[in-house]
Amino acid sequence: MPHYKRILVKLSGEALMGDRDYGLDAGVVARVAEEIKDVVARGVEVCVVIGGGNIFRGVSGAASGMERATADYMGMLATMINALAMQNALEKINCQTRVQSAIPMAAVCESYIRRRAMRHMEKGRVVVFAAGTGNPFFTTDTAAALRASEMGCDALIKATKVDGVYSADPKKDPKATRYDKLTYLDVLTKDLEVMDTSAISLARQSRIPIIVFSIFTHGALADVVEGKGRFTLITEN
Ligand code: UDP
Repeated sequence: MPHYKRILVKLSGEALMGDRDYGLDAGVVARVAEEIKDVVARGVEVCVVIGGGNIFRGVSGAASGMERATADYMGMLATMINALAMQNALEKINCQTRVQSAIPMAAVCESYIRRRAMRHMEKGRVVVFAAGTGNPFFTTDTAAALRASEMGCDALIKATKVDGVYSADPKKDPKATRYDKLTYLDVLTKDLEVMDTSAISLARQSRIPIIVFSIFTHGALADVVEGKGRFTLITEN
């Protein structure tokens, strides 16, 4: 039995990139879509916040001399590309999906309307939130905490390339240890690179547990939703 009635899945752009250096890996997107469909089939209501780092990241644009706000708007548009790819992959396997953008793009998708998004989920549709919060100087992690709060989600599930939160980057430091459980405060004080501090603070305020798991393990999302498998759980205590 699923532990959660409604979840928000945060997919970073990187998670959709596979082994590439840039852009989307269609195979990875299709596999992630299967994982999401599997969870929907278990009766869980699912919404997704999608990143854009695989295409454009505001800070790197700013670093190369671009005005930060402009670079961030470009980053938000990048999330739109990922959102449409995810919708396409989900609908290809008969999983009804609606994209809602925080920046209105009437010819392409719906605009973000909170109650409408909730209604879609009640009908069993997956809602993909694009364009982050719609504001520069934020990240899609913060957008994930914000939408999870607005949607009344029972969990914010962050899909990454590794199976939880480590004391250091496990790909660079062989001594890095993995945590099964953490508190929001641990994440903030130990400066663990899970999500940015505003996202952690907002999830904490809304009392939404954060779960970090690897999207590269087959069936991992369904396991996480049933409280099985490997993941790190972040809560108040
Ligand atoms: N972004 C923004 N406001 C938001 C969300 C995202 O300005 O509310 C911009 C920001 O430039 C960011 C880019 O969009 O670098 C892509 O999002 P993010 O880096 O969070 O994607 P991820 O790391 O999850 O792939």
